[in-house]
Amino acid sequence: MSLLPSDSWISSLEAYWQHGGKYDQQVGAFAQFLARAFLQPYAEFRAAQMPRAPVVMTVRVCPLCGARPLSGVLRVEGDGGKRFLLCSFCSQEWEFRRILCPTCGEETENKLPVYVAEQPDRQPLGGLPHIRVEACDTCKFFLTTVDLTKDGHAIPLVDDLAAIPLSLWAHEHGYSRLQPNLLGT
Ligand SMILES: [Zn+2]
Ligand SMILES: [Zn+2]
Repeated sequence: MSLLPSDSWISSLEAYWQHGGKYDQQVGAFAQFLARAFLQPYAEFRAAQMPRAPVVMTVRVCPLCGARPLSGVLRVEGDGGKRFLLCSFCSQEWEFRRILCPTCGEETENKLPVYVAEQPDRQPLGGLPHIRVEACDTCKFFLTTVDLTKDGHAIPLVDDLAAIPLSLWAHEHGYSRLQPNLLGT
């Protein structure tokens, strides 16, 4: 980047501001890194200042900025957990139904397998018992979900970066990730 003229830095930041969180996969892991690392905290700051209307429907992209979800978050609610999706660009969360694929809309429970570390035959997931791989056998996409009902101290944005072995495991099993994280995994 330092070898490029400074006006090209501006245009790359402006371009990322337009498509950030929506088309990162096409841009590629390296090309998105700097622009995303610079702009994501600013998007998060701006989004946190915005008044939020209550979400009445289940929407698959961030209701504030239109970006795709980075990962899911399960938060304690009554006896179980309620699922939220974490925006890949502005880092705000929105509520999302538990049995519903955020990519294709599949809602048949047995098409939506969940892989967790306690299952002994699914060992590469060991060591991260509070992270789930929520997959869809219809569209073959997956989402990592941080289960705060199991570990209340987990930080979804950070734990998602730590969960690279899970992403690799899911890729090996034929699933793709909807939206890459900052490291492009
Ligand atoms: Zn957003
Ligand atoms: Zn699906």
